[in-house]
Formats: sequence, C-alpha cells, structure tokens
Amino acid sequence: MKKHNFSAGPCILPQEVMKKAAEAVIELDGIGLSLIEISHRSKEFVTIMEKARSLALELLGLEGKGYSALFLQGGASMQFLATAYNLLETRAGYLNTGTWSLKAIKEARLFGDVIEVASSQEKNYNFIPKGYKIPDGLDYLHLTSNNTIFGTQIKEFPKSNAPLVCDMSSDIFSRQLDFTQFDLIYAGAQKNMGPAGTTLVVVKEDILGKVTRKIPSMLDYKIHIAKDSMFNTPPVFPVYVSMLTLQWLKDLGGIPAIEEINEKKANLIYSEIDLNPVFSGYAAKEDRSTMNATFNITDDTLKETFDKLCKEAGINGLNGHRSVGGYRASMYNALSLESVGVLVDIMSELERKG
Ligand SMILES: *Cc1c(COP(=O)(O)O)cnc(C)c1O
Repeated sequence: MKKHNFSAGPCILPQEVMKKAAEAVIELDGIGLSLIEISHRSKEFVTIMEKARSLALELLGLEGKGYSALFLQGGASMQFLATAYNLLETRAGYLNTGTWSLKAIKEARLFGDVIEVASSQEKNYNFIPKGYKIPDGLDYLHLTSNNTIFGTQIKEFPKSNAPLVCDMSSDIFSRQLDFTQFDLIYAGAQKNMGPAGTTLVVVKEDILGKVTRKIPSMLDYKIHIAKDSMFNTPPVFPVYVSMLTLQWLKDLGGIPAIEEINEKKANLIYSEIDLNPVFSGYAAKEDRSTMNATFNITDDTLKETFDKLCKEAGINGLNGHRSVGGYRASMYNALSLESVGVLVDIMSELERKG
C-alpha cells in the first residue's frame, strides 16, 4: 500500500513523475540509452536542462525579466555561503526565523558584517517578526520564506531598498507571490521539486559582479550563467526529475492551481487543530505555514494511541523536528487533500476516544 507521506524532506513527489523518472533510468524516451549513461552535452540532456530552467522562470513569472535559473549542487546549505560570496561586500541584513536562517548567518559572517534585523528566537521561533527597521546601506537582505522546522511562513515580505535574497527551499512553487520583488531565490530540490542533489538558484543578473573579492569558479554565479548551468557535469537525475515535476505543475495549471489545493489542505488541518482539544498548534496563527503544520498533543496519555492509529492508516513522517518536538505534518505540493483527510479523521477519532 502506498503510504500517506507527510515527510519534511526529502518528501513526496507526484506519482506520475516517479514512474517517468524510473523509466528514464532504464531508457530515456526510446533512445536506447539510460538518462544516467548519456553525455550531459548530448542534445537530449541539453534539452532537459534548458526545459527545466525555462519552466522554473515561467512558473515564477520571471521570464524575460533579467533573471537566470541555475541548477547547482551542494544543497541550499551551499547557497548559504555562495550568496554571501557573490553579494556581500561590507554589510548584509538577515532575518533570523530559525535553524536555517541561523546557518545562513553563520556562513555570511565569514564574508562581512551581518546585522540580524530581527529575530524570533525568544519564543523558539514560533512566529515571524514584523515591523522591524531595515538599516540603510545593506548589500542585501536575507529571508527564509518558510521555516520548515517551526512551521512558520512569511506572508508579507518587507519593502527593502537592498536586494532581497530568499531561501525558499520549503515553499517554492507552492503559492502565488510577486517574485520580481526578489533578486535572488534559492531552493534545495528535495522539498517541492525533486530528489536531493540539486538546488535551484534564480538570480537577477544585474545584482552580480559588484563585490571586489575573487570568487572560485564553482561558486561564481556569473560563470554558471555563462555556461548555461553546465560549468561541470550537472546532477542529471535530480535535474530531470525536477523538470518533470515542473512540467506536472504547469499541466495542473501552475502556481495558482496548486495554491488553491495547498490552502484547502492547510485549512483542513489547522481547523482540526483549533477545534480539537486534544491538539494545539505550535506556530502563531497569522504566521502558520501552508507547507509544514506543527502541533502538539495536549494529553500525553493519548500519544501512544495516536501514533498507533497513524501507523495503521499508513501515515509516514509525522514526527516533529527534535528542536520543537510534537508533530509536523508536511504538506508539499504532491501531497493530496485526501491524505490530509486521513490524518484529520484520525485526529477527530482520538478526540472521541479521549
Ligand atoms: C531543508 C532546508 C535547507 C537545507 O537544505 P540542504 O539542501 O539540505 O542544504 C535550507 N533551508 C530550508 C528552509 C530548508 O527547509
């Protein structure tokens, strides 16, 4: 039986994408060769890379607007330092909304002054700071749009004179935003796009080339752009699967269509959390993530029964991150409303039992 996969990442992908990806490992589109045994310079793979890059820009509404899409390696964690390497000359601002922001801050400190513009640390990151002042003279302002571990999500982005850099690893392609407000977006593939092994970087080209330091080739966005995201052998399988997922999303109606489904899923689980006395939400209501719902069980004696019922129903990946505890239901694009329904039914059954 296929399980209901609430894993935070790597995570669920569309079933039809999995099937096509599995087939391509044996033979790519009837060419008599596997996807993973052909040259990355072959016309077949070059076409795949170009399609992945253009689909990413198209879905974000950034085509023809001076942006370039790259599929790089090293995960979002590599982008923590690559962004600073390429953009931080003297001083950058960072919004500290949790574990991933902190890791980005740590890397950026190697390159210049880092100003924490605001932080939600005092409440173990259960909310998004608002109304903070953004100092003048920043090389850029760095945000984490969705805090995968804590279940918070920025709903309104700050107006800033400095370029906006955003880690969208866990909510890219999940909701409509004016993506032109960002100058650089990065996202590890494994939360909403594909298998681990590639990271999407969407960068506005005119912000590059302004730092005085020398940049190693593998970390230099300008070099990756000049080489059409093929400076070295790209991670062919993750790029291919990402391309398939982006095509799946486009066929579905793009971000507006998936956003509608994602909101239904989020409303379903959060209304259960709010109405059911056995559960309590972790994140502040106005900052709740549509991707990762964090919650606790109020009566510990019911925990064993809840876990057992979840297991019997084939629910996977519901444990909260160790720094928060409790539960976390990750509801990425490919997770169906039906799967959330199965979980919510168990939650209400537990209330009847309790
Ligand atoms: C998972 C995650 C990361 C880390 O991604 P890696 O690809 O493992 O380096 C960074 N930021 C956010 C918001 C994440 O959810």
